Amino acid sequence: MSHSPRFLDFSNHFDALGFTAGFSLEGFSTDGSDDRISLADALRLPVSELVIPKQTHSNHVQYCERGGDMDDTDGIIADKGTCVLSIQVADCIPMFFVQKMTGRFGLVHAGWRGVEKGIAAEALAFFHPEEIFCLLGPSIQQCCFEIGPEVAAQFPESFQKKGDGDRSFLNLQEAVINQLMEQGVPSHQIKNDGTCTACNRDDFHSYRRDGKKAGRHIAVAGWR
Ligand SMILES: [Zn+2]
Repeated sequence: MSHSPRFLDFSNHFDALGFTAGFSLEGFSTDGSDDRISLADALRLPVSELVIPKQTHSNHVQYCERGGDMDDTDGIIADKGTCVLSIQVADCIPMFFVQKMTGRFGLVHAGWRGVEKGIAAEALAFFHPEEIFCLLGPSIQQCCFEIGPEVAAQFPESFQKKGDGDRSFLNLQEAVINQLMEQGVPSHQIKNDGTCTACNRDDFHSYRRDGKKAGRHIAVAGWR
């Protein structure tokens, strides 16, 4: 077992000093402790005000004033100095938002259902889109995201590649980026990590690859 830290620190991707964003890798915590607390701790974020949403693949986005559980929500928004946000994902896109000038920030869990329901736009309603920076974290990429015709019908063909028979491969990241740009986020303020969770077995959990027994990644964001 390696002793190198089993998480990614994305803080440097944001042009916002003190804004901190992290993502746990496979094998992050082996001692049974709470991953959200461990990851926030590892990133030197205050764990006492951790927000934990009950995710439902919805397009619901809620503003959080303090730490605690949030019902039925896949997007959480807060202001600097109030709380630390957390979500869990396994293939779905973890989206990190920060608006440097005001300190407002957010985390969104975006699978195809949430994207199809427009969760990116729902989240942007809490921001000035032209002023935010957004990172799409590790998630299942087009190479592995085979979908059937029912899902394909929900997305423009331009974000799909033809597969065998009626199957196709969806570029969900491109679909999200397109939604962000339509809402006024400049393209140079959007970054896609691009790592595929399904192909990179050593570091990532994947629901598509491992089914119900798949582990979950934790994403956290906050201000130091
Ligand atoms: Zn892949």
